[in-house]
Amino acid sequence: MKKELLELALDQINYEFESSYLYLSMSAWAQDNGYPGTAKWMEKQAEEEITHGKKMMHFLQEVNEKVILTPIAAGPVDFPGFIELFKLSLEHEKKVTARIVKLYEEATAAKEYALANLYSWFIDEQVEEESTLVDIITRLEKVPTPIGVMMMDDRLGQRA
Ligand code: MG
Repeated sequence: MKKELLELALDQINYEFESSYLYLSMSAWAQDNGYPGTAKWMEKQAEEEITHGKKMMHFLQEVNEKVILTPIAAGPVDFPGFIELFKLSLEHEKKVTARIVKLYEEATAAKEYALANLYSWFIDEQVEEESTLVDIITRLEKVPTPIGVMMMDDRLGQRA
């Protein structure tokens, strides 16, 4: 694999783990602000990001590339509010999608088709991530009341 492509792949692994850390920050904020269902949901979201990073790590290892992990930035301590938590998550996921589309294009241009296939899986995954968040935001905007928020928190707490 070209050095440049490997560096981009490693950078994305770092970003997946950083995403996990961001969702854990959101989980901590939710717990601290009386939204235990959301805290649980965000924790699951954080776990999913770890599996994303590991999936990318394992791919590189399968093709005999060396995985180097670098420091990850701490997430924010404070968030402006309940619905904003999901709006920020959606913004973040859109950033992730744009990054992965770029990685897919780079891998394809370099004729690294197996790597491109890996990113193709992630592009599909991003459709789901974004649609879940859009659904949550749409529901919250329909009932922008404390009851709406509490119902959503309960619902999010049921995530398996
Ligand atoms: Mg991810």
